[in-house]
Amino acid sequence: METQASGQGPAGSPPQAASPPKKLPPYRQASRLTHPEDSVIKLGAHAIGGPEFVVMAGPCSVEADPQMLGTAWDVKMAGAHIIRGGAFKPRSSPYSFQGLAEEGLKMLAKARELTGLGIVTEVMDSSDVDLVESYADILQVGARNSQNFSLLKRLSRSRKPILLKRGLMNTVEEFLCSAEYLLAGGNESVILCERGIRTFETSTRNTLDLSSVLAIKERSHLPVIVDPSHASGKAHYVAPLSRAALAVGADGLMIEVHCAPELALCDGDESLTPDAFRTLMADLACLAPSFGRQISTLPDHGLKLADQGGK
Ligand code: PEP
Ligand code: MN
Repeated sequence: METQASGQGPAGSPPQAASPPKKLPPYRQASRLTHPEDSVIKLGAHAIGGPEFVVMAGPCSVEADPQMLGTAWDVKMAGAHIIRGGAFKPRSSPYSFQGLAEEGLKMLAKARELTGLGIVTEVMDSSDVDLVESYADILQVGARNSQNFSLLKRLSRSRKPILLKRGLMNTVEEFLCSAEYLLAGGNESVILCERGIRTFETSTRNTLDLSSVLAIKERSHLPVIVDPSHASGKAHYVAPLSRAALAVGADGLMIEVHCAPELALCDGDESLTPDAFRTLMADLACLAPSFGRQISTLPDHGLKLADQGGK
């Protein structure tokens, strides 16, 4: 869609001036110029990018069966739609807990069986894509890999949806160019995640750029969710920032929840307790209609096996 048809006025009227051709941005398939309608990504029973406000929740890292299954059950009962948990962890220090790798993926698969909810988990390296893809319903690209172009090219050939986090130092245009790598290679199921950027401010772990939701939605048709946990680094900031994300027009949230945050091997300070998460979900469900959104019905409390594929 490089040019627009020149305006030929109705019969008898003077010819209209031709509108100048619209120059496509470097993220051409992600741009609204080539795809004016919002993209809606189907996630099992849920759809992200439409009227539904989708919440992904779970621990930062998969640590052990009781921790993962207990937290997964708690977030499901609170009304979460997707379970999160990292099995491959991008840690600043090589001495910090690095994740349980395939053992962790197996625990996530058990959490899916227990709850019936889909799972999102990070893949850090191209060589792990086949493995992670065989377990996950959504593959996460973390902030530190947001411009790992060889990983993005590999994931562009995946049939699973990709949750792409904004890089710590990336502009909105660079973020959309990263998404473009996925679209250009053939994967149209891309969900963007604003998770805060690095600024001079030190009172929060990162600076949550809520305006980016508006800037992205103006430029792109892709859905955007917000991660207030990594953005703030503080559990007591998570609920207010979540409400702000709903109000600004985000399509959902990713929230860290741990059954015992004080014992978490990673990011305990920003993790909500199951009780705090339940309160937040009830609050969001009340607020959502005021912003033209709905939060799908609370769970049926029945044990159901997932029918979403994967191991
Ligand atoms: C995460 O979601 O587990 C994570 C490490 O987040 P980020 O890549 O945004 O730092
Ligand atoms: Mn974390």
